Amino acid sequence: MPSPAGLMGQMMAMPLLISSLLKHAARHSGDTEIVSKRLEGDVHRSSWAATEFRARQLAQALARLGCQPGDRVGTLAWNGHRHLEIYYGVSGSGLVCHTINPRLFPEQIAWIAQDARDRVLCFDLNLLPLVEKLAPALTHTEHFVLMTDRAHMPAHSALPGLLFFEELLAAEDGAYVWPEFDENTASSICYTSGTTGHPKGAVYSHRSTVLHAFASALPDAMDCSSRDVVLPVVPMFHVNAWGLPYSCALVGCKLVLPGPFLDGASLYQLFESEGVTFSAGVPTVWLGLLQHVQSQGLKFSSFKRTVIGGSACPPALMKTLQQDFGIEVIHAWGMTELSPLGTLSKLTSRQLGLPAEAQQRLLEKQGRVIYGIDMAIADDVGQALPWDGQSAGNLLVRGSWVISGYFGQAASPLVSLDGEPGWFPTGDVATIDADGFMQITDRSKDVIKSGGEWISSIELENIAMAHPAVQEAAVIACPHPKWDERPLLLVVLKPGASVSREALLSFYAGQVVGWQVPDDVVFLSELPHTATGKLQKLKLREQFRSHRLPGA
Ligand code: ADP
Repeated sequence: MPSPAGLMGQMMAMPLLISSLLKHAARHSGDTEIVSKRLEGDVHRSSWAATEFRARQLAQALARLGCQPGDRVGTLAWNGHRHLEIYYGVSGSGLVCHTINPRLFPEQIAWIAQDARDRVLCFDLNLLPLVEKLAPALTHTEHFVLMTDRAHMPAHSALPGLLFFEELLAAEDGAYVWPEFDENTASSICYTSGTTGHPKGAVYSHRSTVLHAFASALPDAMDCSSRDVVLPVVPMFHVNAWGLPYSCALVGCKLVLPGPFLDGASLYQLFESEGVTFSAGVPTVWLGLLQHVQSQGLKFSSFKRTVIGGSACPPALMKTLQQDFGIEVIHAWGMTELSPLGTLSKLTSRQLGLPAEAQQRLLEKQGRVIYGIDMAIADDVGQALPWDGQSAGNLLVRGSWVISGYFGQAASPLVSLDGEPGWFPTGDVATIDADGFMQITDRSKDVIKSGGEWISSIELENIAMAHPAVQEAAVIACPHPKWDERPLLLVVLKPGASVSREALLSFYAGQVVGWQVPDDVVFLSELPHTATGKLQKLKLREQFRSHRLPGA
């Protein structure tokens, strides 16, 4: 693109490549630890320098297997040092790292691996039976790599020609020079979970990934520094663990990778033994961890702050972490299509003068955009709505780490705002206040429309979750002959707790206007979640489609 003034800058055009993050970490924080709890049963200790060396060995090994620039290398793996080495070895050498969620249905995994045409598939030890089952359907996959050494191989495997990660690396000398190429080259792919239709692939570039790493490390975002010890609970198969493997390299901090061991007791033990200061994950993870910590009367000794996102953080959970444990909670919103960070809730200096209650209400919102992302709310014909904290509309975004299309799909997902094209429709419904604090009120498909008025299911869920007897809550639209839809509250009670339907409904008094109070309550032993910990409201809506509301 020519410059409007006709004069070009005279600065070095160093491409923003993922390998540059790793080279920087290895050079300046080489002995900073990467700690992994492994399926082999040990706690493995590595470093940024060792990660860089092994990533170079992997790049050599993949070239020896015949991989060409742009080829996809799939992973089915938990958070661990080998997965980190794959992130860098694959993307750094010009291949594309395709992380796949092992908790999806096997048919979905096969569909995704085939759609991306993964030539190589690397997978963790406990996923061997799954991959053996999938293998016949993976017609594009030429090499299967078990992420361990031969000694840990189970007695039998139906996979012919199975390769071992450690053997592949041991055969290489690591004398590899990271190549330079266009920063817009694809670096990784992540498929959205696709609650309707087939999953769709978001293809990240080196440039988008490095810019996202820069922005997400900033103080008003995740505030990462070399003094942090970071434990990403968010899986590395889900939107690159919210970019933490990259932003941690950028700042050169210690990284603690929990493997598949995400139960409260295992996580707490790792937080304490490794001195974790910062973590990030979906709300359900914290519910599990807190249940363990509270039932055992434990405290955290180093844990200072956490980013919670992926679905709305219940205010009750936020308050417990803040008040009982002194942990700063940063509520964040993002999407697979946004690499994923869009907004985070941090107070501005002016807001620090507000009463505590008002500050808390702001922190409960999804927050302000970080530089690099632009957002707007629009009505159903694409006209911008005001930032008054009241008007709710379709949330649109654009920016340097927002997708412009989906992998292999010709149709553009982008829409226009006030006639200007180039906005990505998030599918979320939100308000934005005059200070730019965005609040998600619903997924557009989860909104409850009662007599033509919208009711926010998230607001009703948050209120229920603040009741001392409630462990988890979902509010869904239930068909109603007169109002079209009415809210139905589905709750899971805490172990040993009890509360009546009437008591729960009267808990809403004074918190929302009368017509927004749910019409009925159903008590359940558990709620269905997606593989990434989100409530499966579609499933619940199907299950309760013919539920008879009182008076209906
Ligand atoms: P998937 O692709 O599996 O749905 P994503 O992580 O891309 O997973 O999901 C993005 C969606 O998750 C957002 O569009 C929004 O609906 C929801 N979400 C993410 N963070 C929040 C949050 N803090 N509050 C409410 N909803 C959220």
